[in-house]
Amino acid sequence: MRHIVFLSGAGISAESGISTFRDAGGLWDTYNVMDVCSAEAFRSNRQFVLDFYNKRRRELADKTPNAAHRMIADLQREFPDRVLNITQNIDDLFEKAGCQGTIHLHGELTKARCEVCGHIWKIGYADLVGTEHCPLCKAARVRHHIVMFNEQAPEYMRLYEAVEGLGVNREGLLVVIGTSGLVLPVEEFARYALYSILNNLEPQEAIDDRVFSVHMYEKAGDAAPKIAVLARRFLNGGEIS
Ligand code: NAD
Repeated sequence: MRHIVFLSGAGISAESGISTFRDAGGLWDTYNVMDVCSAEAFRSNRQFVLDFYNKRRRELADKTPNAAHRMIADLQREFPDRVLNITQNIDDLFEKAGCQGTIHLHGELTKARCEVCGHIWKIGYADLVGTEHCPLCKAARVRHHIVMFNEQAPEYMRLYEAVEGLGVNREGLLVVIGTSGLVLPVEEFARYALYSILNNLEPQEAIDDRVFSVHMYEKAGDAAPKIAVLARRFLNGGEIS
């Protein structure tokens, strides 16, 4: 059956006020990413890294989804089980928009994880102060549920399954929104799909947009209604060009 895989990055949440890696004057001008997002940094300064994510979690509390998040939620409601949502983002804007079953490849800010037993649970926007105990095994090794550099990303298995699924009977549409393509080879993924759509603010060095059936260089919120039209046409058996 025809189905869609959405794959997003930081750009989809930019209009909701969460800075991407590349925004001038954004978060990443202030922090060196390897000082706060790497396994080594966490080993050498645990509380500094926990505090960094505490700040991000607090900032998230009043952020609201934008038209692009809502567009995916609407399509999921309209076409149950035919719209899979995969994101690199750690924010909770898809959940706030009403998306179901979102796969967060790099974890979620609003969850904590026990380093001893692997249990994962919701913490909302609360800080992790380093003295918490796991509700399951009671160990005092509680951390943010976020994949940092040089750590395993178990959800990638589900991404690869979804990408392969795009090619089965050539019935899949891949929609890529707001990612520079530096972390994920989105252009390679697009080759599996019958059709593919790319939306970024501007062309990216790491992405050959000729591979995509359609590309839209504009804000995700502006592209969203156009993507929705193409998505509905595709799911109803039509062509995209
Ligand atoms: P990136 O910062 O490397 O690239 C951002 C991309 O989004 C660029 O291609 C840019 O053209 C595009 N973009 C910017 N504003 C946009 C808009 N309004 N509409 C559409 N596109 C827009 O992001 P990345 O490729 O996702 O890689 C960064 C890594 O850091 C990922 O793992 C990401 O999840 C993580 N990160 C997450 C968040 C979040 O959870 N919201 C924020 C920053 C970084």
